[in-house]
Amino acid sequence: MGSPEGSQQGLSCGALFNGRMTRLLFDSDPYLVSFESVVERLAGEWVFLEESAFFPGGGGQEADRGTIESLQVTEIRLENGDIAHRTPTHTFRVGQRVKCAIDWGRRNDLMKGHTAEHLLFSAIGKLAPESELVKIVISPEKKSFVIKGSVGWPLLSEAQRIANDAILQGLPTTELKVGREDPILKAARSTGFMEICSG
Ligand SMILES: [Zn+2]
Repeated sequence: MGSPEGSQQGLSCGALFNGRMTRLLFDSDPYLVSFESVVERLAGEWVFLEESAFFPGGGGQEADRGTIESLQVTEIRLENGDIAHRTPTHTFRVGQRVKCAIDWGRRNDLMKGHTAEHLLFSAIGKLAPESELVKIVISPEKKSFVIKGSVGWPLLSEAQRIANDAILQGLPTTELKVGREDPILKAARSTGFMEICSG
């Protein structure tokens, strides 16, 4: 596992979040579709694992769905740094090893929508730097965002063209995990397609 995972188990994070947290497998591999883990604790229908690739939602993107031991996971929540998996019909016990699978069709659609949202808003930001992103919805049914600022249809049409061009060029995407105030964000925004993500 890479350094992002290691950093989450650091002493300072542990102190902040009141103990040990679920290891977040999607941080080091966003394309991980299936994994095995051990049940760490249970709270009724909610299952906590030692590690999880289930994304709990963020940056407007809805949480994952999938299965644990072929049982449907109907809801995912982040609780004090732990991923909670709602698995209503489970009969798991603590210490049990389980096989987990992410609903990849759904996740892949949401990931694409998320990247597209960043591309489009980045293009709008280049043409109308004062515009602000107010709300993002990235769900299977709907992918939209609300912006504040004076942008007319010609500008939006141009932004759409820029975003589509970037997609057609097949530009590589890179993931960086940095703090909100990191100067790298400002530098990257002025030179390429990049937007701060809260997820
Ligand atoms: Zn984002």
